Parts: sequence; C-alpha cells; structure tokens
Amino acid sequence: MAILKVAQLGNPVLRMKAEPVPEDVIASPEAQILIDDMIETMREYSGAGLAAPQVHESVQIIVLETMRNERYPDAPSVPLTVIINPKITAFSEELEEGWEGCLSLTDLWGRVKRARSVTVEGLDRDGAPLKIEAEGFFARALQHEIDHLHGKVFVDRMSDLLSLSFGKEYSRYGQLLEEEEL
Ligand SMILES: [Zn+2]
Repeated sequence: MAILKVAQLGNPVLRMKAEPVPEDVIASPEAQILIDDMIETMREYSGAGLAAPQVHESVQIIVLETMRNERYPDAPSVPLTVIINPKITAFSEELEEGWEGCLSLTDLWGRVKRARSVTVEGLDRDGAPLKIEAEGFFARALQHEIDHLHGKVFVDRMSDLLSLSFGKEYSRYGQLLEEEEL
C-alpha cells in the first residue's frame, strides 16, 4: 500500500469528468491497489472521504470513513465505504448547511448547503450492487465526493463566499459564522 499525492486546486484533473470503471476491471490488481491506496491516503491525511481524481486518477471511485477524525471532531462516525460508479438516485428536498473542507483545498473551510439525505447507488469493491441511504454528515460527505467525479469542488457549491475561511480562522470564528447563519 502507498500514500498517494493529493492533487491541489488548479490541477486540471480536479476539473475533469471521471470515467466509469468497467465492471470487468473492478477485480483487477490495478483497481484493487488503487482502492487500498485511496483508503490509506484518506486515513493518513484525516480526510472524511477521497475521490480518485484527487489522487490523479480520473475514474469513478470514492472512499469514505469517519472515525474520531481530527478534521471533523464532532462528525458522527461513518463506516469505511467504497463506491465504484456512484450515482445519487434521490435527494431530499430539505437542505442543511454545514462546514466542509477538502484535502485538495488545503486549509480552506466554507459553509455549503446540501440535501439533508440522499440515496446513492453504485458497486462495491467486489463489483456487487450497492445502495446506501444516508443523512446528515454521511449524506454531505457522499455529495462532496461524488461532486469530485463531475469536476466540482465544494467552493462551487457555496451560495456565497462569506464563510470561506482558513483553518486557523475557522477554528477561532467558525462557531460565530454559524450562529450568524451566513
Ligand atoms: Zn474534496
């Protein structure tokens, strides 16, 4: 396993549409090693999730996991989840605003409105169909990672940039910005 280099905003790979993974490729050592390396990279940098384009592979694979994450200390835990060719098949009408950061936008945080719950369908790492119904932080993380497969990053989803903050200021003033409901 290897810790991969994370592409930073400005790298064109983050703005490309990722290719679906053909079903007969999922079991290949290349795909399985990429998945293992993505998990290791996400854990190394305390990400709540990672999409393959963030490690310079423009293919539709995302991984998510949150357990005592220092970047998201208050987030509920999300079990290790690997989804290949994920699609959001249902969004709640209800939206919820919350803080997001991204390993490709190092040290930037902003408040983003997302659907409160989503249904995501795709394949697991064995190629078996997968359907996840998620709400709250898990739903937010899924929407964030799936956006990466469409060349989008969280700042594109901010209704305005008033809450955009560097990490140090986010930890000092984030609560305040939240109360003001920017
Ligand atoms: Zn991200």
